[in-house]
Amino acid sequence: MNHLIMKNNITDKKPKYLTRLNQVPELSQEEREQLEPVNDKFIFRSNDYYNSLIDWNDPKDPIRKIIIPEVQELEEWGQLDASNEEQYTRAKGLEHKYDSTALLLVNEVCAAYCRFCFRKRLFMDDNEEVTKDISEGLAYIREHPEINNVLLTGGDPLIMSTSKLEPIIRQLREVEHVRIIRIGTKIPAFNPMRIYNDESLREMFRQYSTGQKRIYVMAHFNHPRELTPEAVRGLEFLLQAGAIVINQTPMIAGVNDDPEVLGRLFNELSYIGVPPYYVFHCRPTLGNKPYTMPVEKAYEIFERARIVGSGLAKRARFVMSHQTGKIEVVGLTEKNIYFRYQRAADNRNSARFMVFRRNADAYWFDDYTELVDDGCAFEDVSHEDSWELDDFMNAF
Ligand code: SF4
Repeated sequence: MNHLIMKNNITDKKPKYLTRLNQVPELSQEEREQLEPVNDKFIFRSNDYYNSLIDWNDPKDPIRKIIIPEVQELEEWGQLDASNEEQYTRAKGLEHKYDSTALLLVNEVCAAYCRFCFRKRLFMDDNEEVTKDISEGLAYIREHPEINNVLLTGGDPLIMSTSKLEPIIRQLREVEHVRIIRIGTKIPAFNPMRIYNDESLREMFRQYSTGQKRIYVMAHFNHPRELTPEAVRGLEFLLQAGAIVINQTPMIAGVNDDPEVLGRLFNELSYIGVPPYYVFHCRPTLGNKPYTMPVEKAYEIFERARIVGSGLAKRARFVMSHQTGKIEVVGLTEKNIYFRYQRAADNRNSARFMVFRRNADAYWFDDYTELVDDGCAFEDVSHEDSWELDDFMNAF
């Protein structure tokens, strides 16, 4: 049944998971045979609710592009861990890159697998970056008072039962200096029923998302068509339970690389009360060539999308999650492109501003090689010992 025509008939039905391409009858035998080697390399997983959002008559359907493998993923392009996340692993299952923020990778499963995932390495057999035993990670967090917010991620923490998730949240709440807990999740898009069918989840948010210690849900909607009545109900449930919900999305070729589509996503989210937060440029992750595009093209789409929104809808920032930090693209002129560190792994780069000559073929920050100017104009945060140009360029 197509959920697009179920406007007022919201389902409670638990979705059926699909882990084999032969469970997708809409694919022809020939397509399945072509896609099997892709599935062998980068695992496929979806469910019947999410697949029902696909218009199978449209080979370029954006929801299809999010979830159904493409042969082009086999092109040898990119690296498995493009931002070198593993380098910031400080304890089993814990990454600490920015002073105030720690990541706990609490599981390696998602409700479905986005084809463009930058963490696809976690879904592979020999990965050891994720742990279900968070005791080491918790001990690290307790010993680091500068950590005031912890992001639960993976995989998708909300795929865990509330009875497994609640003890993690409870133990984090017992750490005085952890003020914000974030949950990175695509469950509101992939399986919103998991949210509104679970009263114990409502209780968990009510108990632990309190006046001065909030739980933020970092939702992951890529396209306005994912905002079905079920998804909106799931988001309402979270908001009413006391969670703060914001949205972040990569810009994905064939999904939201259109100012009208991205602008509509921003607007629809703002109507629901879910502000757009980050729009990520796709990392150069192995197999992701069909989902990415040059940086300058993506930035132009992002800016054009912001033009159509109200102030509330245009709060998103366009960033690259680079090995050295979150680098925001803040402007383009005829000759130059302007970057600023939004978050820096090395504090000497905090708020650092960089001007490079434009490069229409750049797919990532590292492809910019002609530095025109850099630094920080404010004396109190100027970096006397900031990296020299050569150090800076050699660091990559
Ligand atoms: S929900 Fe996030 S972690 Fe899971 S497959 Fe999609 S992008 Fe990757």
